[in-house]
Amino acid sequence: MKVDYLIIGQGLAGSLLAYELQKAGKSCFVIDNPKQVKASEVAAGVVNPVVFRRLTKSWLIDDLYPQLRKTYAELEKHFEVKLFYPLKIKKVFGNGEADFWQKKWNENNLQDYLEASPDKQPHPFVKAEFGMGTVAESGRVDLKQLVKKMQHQLKQRQLIRLEKLNFEALKLEENQVCYRDICAEKILFCEGHAVSENPFFETLRFRHTKGELLRIKTENYRGNFILNKGMFLMPEGEQLYRLGATYDWDDLSLKTTTQARQELQEKLATVFTDQYLVVDQQAGIRPTAHDRRPVMGLHPQHPQVGIFNGLGSKGAMLGPYFARQFAAFLCGEISELHTEVTINRYFKNQKDG
Ligand SMILES: Cc1cc2nc3c(=O)[nH]c(=O)nc-3n(C[C@H](O)[C@H](O)[C@H](O)COP(=O)(O)OP(=O)(O)OC[C@H]3O[C@@H](n4cnc5c(N)ncnc54)[C@H](O)[C@@H]3O)c2cc1C
Repeated sequence: MKVDYLIIGQGLAGSLLAYELQKAGKSCFVIDNPKQVKASEVAAGVVNPVVFRRLTKSWLIDDLYPQLRKTYAELEKHFEVKLFYPLKIKKVFGNGEADFWQKKWNENNLQDYLEASPDKQPHPFVKAEFGMGTVAESGRVDLKQLVKKMQHQLKQRQLIRLEKLNFEALKLEENQVCYRDICAEKILFCEGHAVSENPFFETLRFRHTKGELLRIKTENYRGNFILNKGMFLMPEGEQLYRLGATYDWDDLSLKTTTQARQELQEKLATVFTDQYLVVDQQAGIRPTAHDRRPVMGLHPQHPQVGIFNGLGSKGAMLGPYFARQFAAFLCGEISELHTEVTINRYFKNQKDG
């Protein structure tokens, strides 16, 4: 089989890249390891355009936000499934925080994303003595559904193989790369945290982050917004809520822990008073670069080898824009990638890699 692109990994990164390349008329074949837990299947998929700590816009958000709305709307149509759920985020204020919010709303041009005035309405089962700040342009993306639908379509078209790529069986030739019976112009690695095992990209600096989430079922609470206070409580329908998420840079196992569960429940207890049942706990690894920017581009010594990774904790926001950009780059529509995301940052002092 001969294709334009062989994509390794079909989480969010691989799915979006395959979609953009196919849209551009390119042929793709995907190999995905079914035994690796995908971050994309664990993620809550929260889209928050604001950095709460400093009350600034999230990096590049004025470009990312329109692209994510466009891409998810396109994919919803393509797969006939709902993927983007607009949901307000309500951040519980501490003492004095409402004034800070109003000041920064103006100073940092946050008018497109935040409501200026604090929400002082009582919300059942929420303790918010000083009110709450509202993010009006936000939501959640059902990343699990996206990946599932994409995999289903690839299977129907016989364009996916579920196995772990064996690097020893990979042959780099002058203008192509072959893996067993498949040859492609380029191989594009979208392996999530497994990038750390990739011999082509040992120079890249990653600092992956484990995250854990709970799924809870509330007794009476019916909040239809994402509650935030050092944690988030995100509605998923039918009284089910995702409670997340922890950050751990040391334990990169996929085991769930009582420590994470306690941490999340303690944080929730500071602002939430309803009874609930924990119905599920999950762990995943966020593929995160040392500077927390996406990592993409072609290998300086092997231009038939590329990478799309480093979506970190914001894949739902970063993925659509950068998959579009990488596809445009591969198709020759643009000649350079954004300077902060290109892998050239890791090869700076080496002319040819
Ligand atoms: C607990 C948690 C909460 C999160 N919450 C959010 C959130 O609220 N909002 C948000 O935007 N993001 C969130 N994220 C981050 C989000 O999950 C990631 O940014 C994104 O899903 C990364 O996608 P990916 O495709 O790079 O990696 P993955 O989804 O991990 O996919 C990588 C794929 O590559 C495959 N693979 C790897 N090596 C090989 C190989 N050798 N051969 C074949 N296949 C291979 C794997 O099997 C896997 O399918 C969260 C993550 C976690 C863990």
